[in-house]
Amino acid sequence: MKARITFALCSLPEMALNRDMAMLSVQNKLEILADAAKYDASCASSGAKRAGNSKGVGHTDGMGICHSYTPDGRCVSLLKILLTNYCTYDCVFCVNRVSSDIRRARFSPQEVVGLTLDFYKRNYIEGLFLSSGIIQSPDYTMEQLIEVAKTLRSVHHFGGYIHLKTIAGCDERLVQEAGRWADRLSVNIELPSQSDLVQLAPEKKAVVIEGTMGQIRAKKDAAEDEGKALRSAPKFAPAGQSTQMVVGATETTDRQIILRASTLYGGYKLRRIYYTGFSPYPEADARLPLKATPLMREHRLYQADWLMRFYGFSAEEITTESAPQLSLDEDPKTTWAKAHPEFYPVDVNAAPREALLRVPGIGHRNVERILRIRTYHRMSMEDLRKLHVRVKSVAGYVVAADHLPTAPAAGAMPTAQMELFAASSALSGQV
Ligand code: SF4
Repeated sequence: MKARITFALCSLPEMALNRDMAMLSVQNKLEILADAAKYDASCASSGAKRAGNSKGVGHTDGMGICHSYTPDGRCVSLLKILLTNYCTYDCVFCVNRVSSDIRRARFSPQEVVGLTLDFYKRNYIEGLFLSSGIIQSPDYTMEQLIEVAKTLRSVHHFGGYIHLKTIAGCDERLVQEAGRWADRLSVNIELPSQSDLVQLAPEKKAVVIEGTMGQIRAKKDAAEDEGKALRSAPKFAPAGQSTQMVVGATETTDRQIILRASTLYGGYKLRRIYYTGFSPYPEADARLPLKATPLMREHRLYQADWLMRFYGFSAEEITTESAPQLSLDEDPKTTWAKAHPEFYPVDVNAAPREALLRVPGIGHRNVERILRIRTYHRMSMEDLRKLHVRVKSVAGYVVAADHLPTAPAAGAMPTAQMELFAASSALSGQV
């Protein structure tokens, strides 16, 4: 049996790390730490604008999509790595937890700076996503992450995208400093509820995590207010904050997850929540499920998330107390439509935006097109077809110039809402 490695970083703070750092090449570390970072899903770079300048390198365009770096040499647009996969915490679901028997590595801030610049100049990446296990303390870890971003920006005039993981519970002054250099900050909520954290991440507390989220929101709001009064006022995390939630590691229902997500969006103005289905690993703790969370559950949660953010649904109406799980067989908009036949049919030539958004098979971009087109002619089913709407799917839900639905029998209603994500990625957040 393999010996279990335990790193007592508080008692042997730098010695063991420095020794291991000296033994591993940067390439070795990159293989370990890029691989370790793949478990963090919160890395889209949408929404940042940062112009390059004549002194430095790089720029970030708005709504760019960053991809993850893989250590096999594929060209990617985001260097996504951990500063270290050492961690003093013991979150049961996490491969980097202190009791995990894995290869460990740690970059120095200078090494991350060097890699980022090198990859950027080779046109492999658009920016950096940097996270870390917790070494010594939240403050110490955050200082190391900030040093990378600060050096890139202030020494090398790096204009590319930077997403920094923010360590929950770090000093508020470090949050301020991180937001000064990074485009986006994210604090992982980790699990949907405090009771989930008690079970599987004993060192983490929802109140501490949300405290840091609240600081980010307050500082961003303050920076935006200052920016309105003075255009040259310093920006704070212009691409906002996001978070990641592991789902399926506990019994928490989709309804609880969606309600939690709604509270987080409202309370902290999050740009995105990333849902990561739990995957079991060898010799995992007995408290964890043996089966992986179905990818479709993750996908349905993203669809529910989109319904809240873009389709005007409230968290409460997406599921019910009596049916708290999302269906794996059909999207949540179709489920809602089947439960509310009194809401249909919706007249595509007269209904308000809010009603059109509730038609399964019509995505929000097409809703905007319909609203535009119908101002100069009455729309038919053929017009919908030209918008790539699946007319067979929507026929039971809409009235058009040449179409009146026959009352659909239960079961004859469309079962899949294709357009909501047809030309989009729930993961990237792009429609
Ligand atoms: S603090 Fe983060 S890196 Fe450390 S064990 Fe928990 S989830 Fe993993």
